[in-house]
Amino acid sequence: MAQLSDDCFAFGGPMMSVDEAVGLITTRVNAIVDLETVALVDADGRVLARDVAAPLPLPPFTNSAVDGYAVRNADLPASAEQAFPLDGRIQAGGLAQAPIKPGHTARIFTGAPMPPDAQTVFMQEDVRIDESGRIVLPPGLKRGANVRPAGEDIAQGQVALRAGQRLRPQHLALAAAFGLTRLDVVRRIRVAVFSTGDELASPGEPRAASQLFDSNRFMLMAMLRRLGCEVSDLGILRDERTSLARGLKQVAGGHDLILTTGGVSTGEEDHVKAAVESIGSLVLWRMAIKPGRPVAMGIIDGTPLIGLPGNPVASFVTFVHVVRPTVLALSGALPEPLLPIPLRAAFTYKKKAGRREYVRVSLRRAQDGGLEAIKFPREGAGLLSSLVETDGLVELGEDITNVEPGQDVGFLPYASLI
Ligand code: AMP
Ligand code: MG
Repeated sequence: MAQLSDDCFAFGGPMMSVDEAVGLITTRVNAIVDLETVALVDADGRVLARDVAAPLPLPPFTNSAVDGYAVRNADLPASAEQAFPLDGRIQAGGLAQAPIKPGHTARIFTGAPMPPDAQTVFMQEDVRIDESGRIVLPPGLKRGANVRPAGEDIAQGQVALRAGQRLRPQHLALAAAFGLTRLDVVRRIRVAVFSTGDELASPGEPRAASQLFDSNRFMLMAMLRRLGCEVSDLGILRDERTSLARGLKQVAGGHDLILTTGGVSTGEEDHVKAAVESIGSLVLWRMAIKPGRPVAMGIIDGTPLIGLPGNPVASFVTFVHVVRPTVLALSGALPEPLLPIPLRAAFTYKKKAGRREYVRVSLRRAQDGGLEAIKFPREGAGLLSSLVETDGLVELGEDITNVEPGQDVGFLPYASLI
């Protein structure tokens, strides 16, 4: 399990910028070093534990990139078309037979090995066949055209996949192209998830008139699973210090991270702070981010705890900026900075300098073909519809105070966030 010191998340400043938060997390959270070996088909989303050097070049042998006719470079027609008698036929998967006779051409198909001595392929669309069945090749084709040399993609021995890479389908394709059937990955990060609040009922259970169904837990668990975590669903803790403390203490040893939502503001009924302080240590990070209120960072028996705010949109946004980098750091993953894509704002917005804001937006194709971001019409951090009916977040940096229609802004699609 992760072992962190009690003061690991202490922070001196009054307000913490998003970049400071991510910086603190990436420097202070220790990566888990336990590995496991998984079948390639099960490796999607996992974090690669060791570099993979290419055991063979890609492509493994020089082959034709098109269906056509292979010739020796010495025979390439220079200024006038020229007729070549056929000498051989090579299919994909077939053997490159004897060298082509000088002045001849071989029929060849995409992916078939080049015959020894032939270095160039004419596309079948560019040739014609004369009355006596010879292949008439046009002049002017570049030497080596339409051929994929062995190793042009990846040279043998080159590090092709880096330790810390979060594996996506294309990485699995590369491992398969090397003939690998298993990969060493970091074991899944174990995360305990709690909601807190007397007003919450679990879906499937009776709901009192003054209660609402717990929605955050299902969002957070799904986000964690998308990050490759093994999630323990620990339900709802009541707004009461001792039962909160008992619940949190119980799971600390067996998990790499404890995640809670709700109860971290500074109201009288926000008990997470006191509960954690009674069994471990806790700091409230007042992050300069909207939506998002204080985020609690703590350590219980060496296990890190993150307490997210209860409002669903604040919970979502702070997950992205605090939980995501923590999970990546715990799993030894290479940092994956969020890179907003520039597009045009179709809205007006005013904000204070010194904090970063995230605006929920939908995308629309403007009349001139450019992409525009439309702001969700309402602002509340409790509006689940605002997350459901939009495509992503516009990030407004600390120094921006004003957005006018037509201005370039940075867009983060939801799909890029987790
Ligand atoms: P809190 O951060 O506990 O003060 O909660 C802020 C707001 O978010 C309150 O309106 C809560 O009812 C709501 N809330 C807290 N936790 C959840 C949850 N798990 N699911 C949905 N709403 C929540
Ligand atoms: Mg609460």
